[in-house]
Amino acid sequence: MPNGVRCGVEECIYNSDYACTAESIEVMSNGNDIVGTTKGTRCATFEFEKHTNRHGEIVR
Ligand code: SF4
Repeated sequence: MPNGVRCGVEECIYNSDYACTAESIEVMSNGNDIVGTTKGTRCATFEFEKHTNRHGEIVR
């Protein structure tokens, strides 16, 4: 992963103190036709660190 990739998505398993620790990332448009703003992009490498079941219990 290139140095200096700062990320505020603390819920991602690759996030460590606002630094991305993934070997590489893929960033894509989110498909909602507003790619001209920051809201129009998303990190496709994101993986949620906690998964919950239908009862709201953390299963991972
Ligand atoms: S994989 Fe994407 S969302 Fe996760 S820490 Fe890295 S840049 Fe952020």
